[in-house]
This record gives sequence, C-alpha cells and structure tokens, in this order.
Amino acid sequence: MPRPHPPFKPCPCGSGRSYAACCGPHHSGEQDAPTPEALMRSRYSAYALADADYLRRTWHPDTCPPDLDLNDGTRYTGLKIHRAEGDEVEFTATLKAPGGQTHRMRERSRFVRLGEGWVYLDAAPE
Ligand SMILES: [Zn+2]
Repeated sequence: MPRPHPPFKPCPCGSGRSYAACCGPHHSGEQDAPTPEALMRSRYSAYALADADYLRRTWHPDTCPPDLDLNDGTRYTGLKIHRAEGDEVEFTATLKAPGGQTHRMRERSRFVRLGEGWVYLDAAPE
C-alpha cells in the first residue's frame, strides 16, 4: 500500500516544491536555511504568509525594523532569483498592492552569518 500523500501545497517562493519540503521546515525552526538563497526564498514565503516572527528571527538585529506590518493587504505573487553568489542574492519580487496595482521590486540582498545560520543584513546600494 503506498503511503497517502498529504495534499500538495505549493511553496509560496515558487520553487515548484511543496511548502513542507521547501520553506516550511525553516519557518517552523526545524532546520536553518543552509544558504543565502534558501534564506531569501524562505523570507519571501514568510512575507507571503505574514510570518513576522520568522522575518524578525532572520533579520540582523542592527537593521531589523522595530515595527513590521505584514497585514496591509499586499499580496506576494511571484519571486524570481536572478543570481545567488557568496553572501548576495539578486531577485525580483512581484507584489500586488491592496488597490490591485502590481509592483516589481528588484533588490540585491546581502546576508551575513550569525551564529549557526544566515540572517538578512540589507539591500546593496545600486
Ligand atoms: Zn520555498
């Protein structure tokens, strides 16, 4: 008898994998994101799922904003990773504002190691 599959829930980061096999274990704290790209993906998913705790946990304490409002109605509709090299990940995130407008945000994010895992530091200047 094959094991019944849990319902397939695609990961919000757009990897094509299921949430449980992609960003889920990072969000639950089961497993630290092993690379800056994995962390970037899991942070995007955390925005999509309004998981502010995870975002704070993976944000460098020096740059983490004191207030983080994830309930402003923005929807996160797509992530494209352009380049992941060393401690930098360049990506475009597609967002839909509450009014229905689509925004594309391109950023080169910088990550640093802190303790056992990686944390988000800031966006590299243009
Ligand atoms: Zn994912």
